[in-house]
Amino acid sequence: MINYGRQNIDQSDIDAVVDTLKSSHLTQGPKVTEFEKKVSDLCNVKYAIATNSATSALHSACLALGLGSDDILWTTPITFVASANCAIHCGATVDFVDINPSTFNLCPKALAKKLKAAKRAGKLPKVVIVVHLCGEPCEMEKLHQLSITYGFKLIEDASHAVGAKYKNSQIGSCLYSDITVFSFHPVKIITSAEGGMAVTNDPELERKMRLVNCHGITRSPSLMAEDHEEPWYYEQISIGHNYRMSDIHAALGSSQIEKIEEFIDARIKIAQKYDNSLGRLGIKRQETSAQNRSAFHLYVVKVPKEKRLGLYQHLREQNIITNVHYIPVHLQPFYRNLGFKDGDFPNAEAYYSEALSLPIFPSLSVTEQDLIIKSIEHYLLSE
Ligand SMILES: *Cc1c(COP(=O)(O)O)cnc(C)c1O
Repeated sequence: MINYGRQNIDQSDIDAVVDTLKSSHLTQGPKVTEFEKKVSDLCNVKYAIATNSATSALHSACLALGLGSDDILWTTPITFVASANCAIHCGATVDFVDINPSTFNLCPKALAKKLKAAKRAGKLPKVVIVVHLCGEPCEMEKLHQLSITYGFKLIEDASHAVGAKYKNSQIGSCLYSDITVFSFHPVKIITSAEGGMAVTNDPELERKMRLVNCHGITRSPSLMAEDHEEPWYYEQISIGHNYRMSDIHAALGSSQIEKIEEFIDARIKIAQKYDNSLGRLGIKRQETSAQNRSAFHLYVVKVPKEKRLGLYQHLREQNIITNVHYIPVHLQPFYRNLGFKDGDFPNAEAYYSEALSLPIFPSLSVTEQDLIIKSIEHYLLSE
């Protein structure tokens, strides 16, 4: 069976995990710090804070930015639900901004228009979360400019884009945003099984996220309410969660990140082969900029809506498992119950009616990819 994505685990990853299992620390040990250091070095950013998922990192990022019940957060409807749910967990109100139909990312023009109207109505968002869909970076300079003009905080949900580049800057450098969040779920670029990371250049945001991730507990005397000499003394100074990453997960992540360039190069090669073969069939895929380096977490093509389900099933019969990323978040029953409805974000909905994610992962063989391409060709030409 060929899935749309899968992890790439070798003996060095297995050894790293086994070594940690035999060590003195299964959690809160040296591996988490090591993994954090490797991510901050890769991204050229000051602080990296490991978490047990990107979902936790997004929640912690929103809390650190002070998102609360009187606030509004905007994001794209074409994302995994976690990019919107983090605001609900803070008691905030969620709204969406439609996508650019070519790049599939949140459209800066639509954002500018919506901000203008929101300013007039006195309902500006406190935080905007953009998502680098499939690993292709959003137009960060434009988004950054709008964040300054309208005074909102910007989070990059870079769950798809570990190792990607926006122009000359590494995704995660936070050159254009306050916080960037990564996911290390097995289908993503590198994995720690479950795991995530938030990166930032702001020491206050780092401090706040670390507090949120560990119950609101501090061991820094400068942050404590009381003076105590006892060496075991710690204080809970706010309310938080247990969002920490374990050393077992960090050992895997730390081993995986050594291979990130190799992984992304393999993904780019697969994408190019699809481009060459499927382009001939007139199949359109996400528009990527030559100035950027996509991490190609996903390879999404647009299939005419009357043919998509048929193609999905035809491929499935040959054990080729495609997928659809994503059902627009505003059309999920939970969000419909908040008042969203069909037609609210037409570009996102049109995208959803045609999108199909083809298999892409580093260990996809040439033979397997040839089979996928042949099967697509066969189906579309015989229709
Ligand atoms: C995978 C993903 C998440 C959630 O990541 P977890 O590590 O599974 O919590 C959030 N946002 C996007 C865009 C994702 O693809």
